[in-house]
Amino acid sequence: MLMEFIYQNPALSPQERTNNLLSLMTLEEKVGQMMQISYNTLSAEEAEDWASNKKAGSFLHVLGKKAEHLQELALSTRLGIPIIFGIDAIHGHGLMNGSTIFPSQLGMSCSWNPELLEKAGRVTAREAAADGIHWTFSPVLCIGRDLRWGRINETFGEDSYLIGVLASAIIKGYQGKSLSDADSILACAKHYLGYGESTGGKDAYDTEVTCRKIREVFLPPFKKAIEAGCATFMTGYQSIDGTPMAINKKLLYDILKQELGFKGFVVTDYNNTGSLVTLQMVSPDLDDASKKTVEAGNDMIMATNDFYESAIRLVKSGLLSESLIDEAAGRILSIKFSSGLFDVKKKSGYASRSVISCKEHLQVNMELTRQSIVLLKNDKNILPLNKSTNIKKLAVIGPNADNLKAQLGDWTFFTHPDPNPEAVPAFEYYTMLRGISERSRLKGIETVYHKGCDILDDENQNIEDAVSAAAACDAIIAVIGDCVEQNGEFKDRANLDLSGAQQKLLKALKALGKPLIAVLVNGKPLCVPWLQKNADAVVESFNSGILGGKAVAELLYGDFVPSGKLTVSFPYHSGQIPVYYNQLSGWHSPKYMDLAERNALYPFGFGLSYTKYQYSNLVLSSAVCGKEDTVAVQVDITNTGEYAGTEIVQLYINDKVSSVMTPEKELKGFERVSLKAGETKTVTMSLQISALAIVTPDERYVVEPGEFEIMVGPDSKASSLLKKTLTVC
Ligand code: BGC
Repeated sequence: MLMEFIYQNPALSPQERTNNLLSLMTLEEKVGQMMQISYNTLSAEEAEDWASNKKAGSFLHVLGKKAEHLQELALSTRLGIPIIFGIDAIHGHGLMNGSTIFPSQLGMSCSWNPELLEKAGRVTAREAAADGIHWTFSPVLCIGRDLRWGRINETFGEDSYLIGVLASAIIKGYQGKSLSDADSILACAKHYLGYGESTGGKDAYDTEVTCRKIREVFLPPFKKAIEAGCATFMTGYQSIDGTPMAINKKLLYDILKQELGFKGFVVTDYNNTGSLVTLQMVSPDLDDASKKTVEAGNDMIMATNDFYESAIRLVKSGLLSESLIDEAAGRILSIKFSSGLFDVKKKSGYASRSVISCKEHLQVNMELTRQSIVLLKNDKNILPLNKSTNIKKLAVIGPNADNLKAQLGDWTFFTHPDPNPEAVPAFEYYTMLRGISERSRLKGIETVYHKGCDILDDENQNIEDAVSAAAACDAIIAVIGDCVEQNGEFKDRANLDLSGAQQKLLKALKALGKPLIAVLVNGKPLCVPWLQKNADAVVESFNSGILGGKAVAELLYGDFVPSGKLTVSFPYHSGQIPVYYNQLSGWHSPKYMDLAERNALYPFGFGLSYTKYQYSNLVLSSAVCGKEDTVAVQVDITNTGEYAGTEIVQLYINDKVSSVMTPEKELKGFERVSLKAGETKTVTMSLQISALAIVTPDERYVVEPGEFEIMVGPDSKASSLLKKTLTVC
């Protein structure tokens, strides 16, 4: 290619190229780069106008030939600035029918396996890049503490530390070795910040968090995302203490860009700028909203198309400084240069499409799905099933047994944001029914199936027939949970009990007096104390992706030993929410007076195995240390059961007395350890004393001298933890 301009020289740095390109651009072209256009809301002609005349910097949710055409238009403009195409590839490139769909973020977090999440990120990147996508709006770093919130399924659970570790891993997977590799895509840490904490679990509502809490709980995962090199951040729909996040200058500009040194670009969430006028009522008109959005530190504006004219008008009339437009456009262009968009033809067909759903990707998905499943109860070791000799006929009953949509959850081509519920899946998939029937057949066990009832509609049920089908069997697998209509944006719930006639179905099945094994297929924790009391086994699979049924069947028959642990606590009752583990001490009551239990039904970190692990010999490398030190925390783990297995060893701390109140327990480390039956291994985790810092009322991180309790064990429950005291001087 003939090099006409300096910025076209790949030997120069992204910054040098950006500076040169910016100097050649008109105001209109610079504002154009700040625009992200939602393809599905426009006619083809309007989209073409955005690509060739207004020179939009980015489009979202457009694939294949349509995207290629827009890119060709953009490349043939005066300066030939390529478009970045973005999509919500949240758990795999799921908006494209045919790609690998992983368990939901919540599901995959239960593996506590950063290496595997990095691999899943790589798989998603390869498949999305092959499909012409440059950017995924993932991962979600929101803290999943109010379980009523519709988007809990999109989180890595309730713990800030764990979220940071898992997010960093998947970001590395998406972005690969270099952003300019053909199979790397940009990651996007979202929703900056506090979105999951909106009051009452009401999506996009006001979040009542303090500046101190922001630094203590909400900011740390985003800091880790920056350290992992995350190229982009997305704001959110929420407001914090009355200030819409999209115009929160302190958080977006002062903290994110200045204090934390974030070098990438920030995109608003969908029509954040317009919502300032129409929903949040803090701007009288769009010009005011546009000015505030830019001045707060946003670089790219998602789906507020009128921002284009508005920003140009503001600059021309002297109401908005052009230097802010330069900064925003510059950040976007710099990422376009770093990701090789100007140099290689990074679009459909560049990375080979043969990777989509290839064997290697299937294997990563299979392994992640197995590790995502959590065994919550296993009375008298009823599982694995091959040990129970008398089962010749197995009943598979329930509304989620043969329900692929519920199993996949949100953000697939079936659901959101461009729903196609009638689509025929273009991939091999295993519902629970298929997985269990096929596995049973191999073991010489017959299966019968009945749906039993509906999830939403309690009139639509045939419990009698389901019970008589089950009556002819030796054991029952009840597959229950929730469905896509109960998870996602606009789908917050007040009541997390099993909906429809599911509870009635379970009671009728229980009355048969046969072994009852419950498999939960659900977006988020539900209130299932009845199951804990009455089922013989409970298996939590969340939204387990296209291979969920296969993995659950393997688990039921003992083809692998479960290792998954919860990353979110389960309540007994919806009124008990929030029930997250790292709460402050000081509650006067021993419990709610009308609820029998104080704590979670299943706590954070909890998960059973087919084998047993014993913890002993907790040793600290030093019982007294300074603020700059690192302490080695050592513990012996013995596999005392009959199976080889993998245990997730968890390290918690408690600051015994501190100048501000601190949680009763906080996760500060974890380790996965594989042990043969009878084997003992010593696990060493390093604890940096700087990680024990509290946030002072004036927002400083300070390690206060004094005693800390160091706790190690299999989950966050107090009784199961070994303890040692560490003194910090
Ligand atoms: C969601 C974001 C998403 C965006 C684009 C918004 O409604 O809040 O998480 O990335 O849409 O689809």
